[in-house]
Amino acid sequence: MAGMFDLTGRVALVTGGNGGIGFGMARGLAACGARIVIAGRSAEKNAAAAAELGGQTLALQAELTDPAVPAKLVEEVLAQAGRLDILVNNAGTNIRKAPHMVTDEEWMTVLDTNLTGVMRLTRAAYPALKASGHGRVINIGSMLSIFGVSFSPAYGASKGAVVQYTKSLAAAWSADGITANAILPGWIDTDLTRKARQDVPTLNDAVIARSPSKRWGDPKDFGGIAAFLASDEAAFITGTAIPVDGGFSIQG
Ligand code: NDP
Repeated sequence: MAGMFDLTGRVALVTGGNGGIGFGMARGLAACGARIVIAGRSAEKNAAAAAELGGQTLALQAELTDPAVPAKLVEEVLAQAGRLDILVNNAGTNIRKAPHMVTDEEWMTVLDTNLTGVMRLTRAAYPALKASGHGRVINIGSMLSIFGVSFSPAYGASKGAVVQYTKSLAAAWSADGITANAILPGWIDTDLTRKARQDVPTLNDAVIARSPSKRWGDPKDFGGIAAFLASDEAAFITGTAIPVDGGFSIQG
């Protein structure tokens, strides 16, 4: 990764960067010279991830479903790092339920984490991203931004909306030099899907059998795409949604 893209001097805020796909992207961005700010709920996990990345990595505790937190988080980044060039909206959650079983509270938890929190943070980050001159928003969607399954109605709704929100950002902020793109992960081996594999014992092999690449994705698969989208080389790419799924979503 090092030397592939030059992000020297840029500051990247990665929500949910303390593990899983977020940490994979943080590692890729850091390898290209960006200073990383990790934001997640667990102070312990944040500190461990920051220590592993080393350098000047910052770790900030943030509950992104709290309406007041996103703006405070941006303030804190600017106070401690002085600028914000790259916003990676990665923090996400899922509650697996059939559509007729979902409670209001469960629906709001998923929507607040995956969509409303993303909107609040992105809105708060806009002045800093504009001031950067090459602001980047990278939103994490899902294969369920594209197609539907029976057991994740709130998650699918939130991730579909994230892609449309990304297009709105691209349309509105291109003139400010800000690009906005979404990454759509396939089945990736993280804490999120470990739980699903425990609940559905056949899932592990079913994913491998269906995937053209015959494997689960690894968080390391996301370092390159994050660094590329954050780089000057991707300045003319905006409003896109890029699957990173080993080909899983190409099949009907
Ligand atoms: P993980 O469960 O491993 O990581 C989720 C991260 O989000 C954690 O760092 C967690 O921090 C953070 N987070 C969750 N809720 C909040 C919150 N309310 N406030 C702040 N931080 C929060 O999941 P993945 O790495 O798998 O998922 C990352 C993204 O990728 C998500 O948006 C997910 O929907 C998406 N995705 C994942 C897929 C997969 O197969 N794994 C497939 C498609 C999309 P903490 O632990 O400190 O709470």
